[in-house]
Amino acid sequence: MSRLNLAGLSAVLLLTAAGVAEAKQWKYAGLHPRTGQPADGLCHIEMTHVHTASPLHADVLYRTRDNVYVFIGDPTPFGYEGPRHAYYGHHPVVINVIIHVDADEDDVEYCYQDGPHYHAYEPPPRHEFVEKEDVSYYAGEYPEEYKLASPKLLRVNAVYRPWSAPRPVVRVAPPPEYHGPIIQVGLNLPVPSIEVRVGTPPPPPPPPPEREVVIIREERVVHEHHHDDHCGHDDYRKHKKHKKHKGRH
Ligand SMILES: [Zn+2]
Ligand SMILES: [Zn+2]
Repeated sequence: MSRLNLAGLSAVLLLTAAGVAEAKQWKYAGLHPRTGQPADGLCHIEMTHVHTASPLHADVLYRTRDNVYVFIGDPTPFGYEGPRHAYYGHHPVVINVIIHVDADEDDVEYCYQDGPHYHAYEPPPRHEFVEKEDVSYYAGEYPEEYKLASPKLLRVNAVYRPWSAPRPVVRVAPPPEYHGPIIQVGLNLPVPSIEVRVGTPPPPPPPPPEREVVIIREERVVHEHHHDDHCGHDDYRKHKKHKKHKGRH
C-alpha cells in the first residue's frame, strides 16, 4: 500500500469521526422548550426539525414517536405568550392533535400535571371534557395504561414545582364528572387527593394550614417587593427576544 493511499484513508476516517459528532441531534415536532431552562424560552417550529440541544426532563415533559420528541407540558414557565387553555388535573393529550397531523385514530397519551395548569393546545375534540369557569376537566375514565405509568410520570409535578409559573385561578370545586386527583397546588405543598366520589362534588378545600409557612417564606422579600412573584419576567422575555435570532436549529 502506498503512502498516498494511507493518507487518503486517514482523511476518510477523520471525516467519518466528524460526521458522527455532527449527527448528535434530537428531532422535535411542535412547540417545545429550547433547552428546558425557563430562561431559554421556547422554539415555535411546528414541523419536525432537529436541534443539537437534548430535551431536558424528556421522560416526563415529552412523548416520543419514531425518535421525534413532542412536548406535552405547560409552556408557561418558558415565557409562552400565545393563546393558552386552562386545565385542571390529569387528562388525555392527543399527539396527532398537538402536531396538527390528521389521523383516523387518536394517538393518546396522558398529562399528569396536578391541579390547575395551562397548555398551548385545546382539549382534544374526540375526548370528553367538561368546562367550568373557563377551565377544562377531563370527564372520561382513565385506562389501565394511565395507571401503570403513574408512578413514573407523576414526577412531572416535581419538575414544575420550583419554576413557580402562574397557574389558572380555580375557586370552585371540580365538577362531579372529573374523576382524577384533586390536589391543591400553588402553595408548594400538595395536599393529598381527596376521594369523595358519591354524586356530590367535594367541598372547596379549606384554607390550608401551610399558609403560615408561606408567610414566613415571603417575609424575606416582602419588604422590598410586595408579593411580586413574577418580578424579572419582563426582563427575561426581552432577553429571550434578543436571543431568538441566534438560532440553534
Ligand atoms: Zn425546535
Ligand atoms: Zn395537562
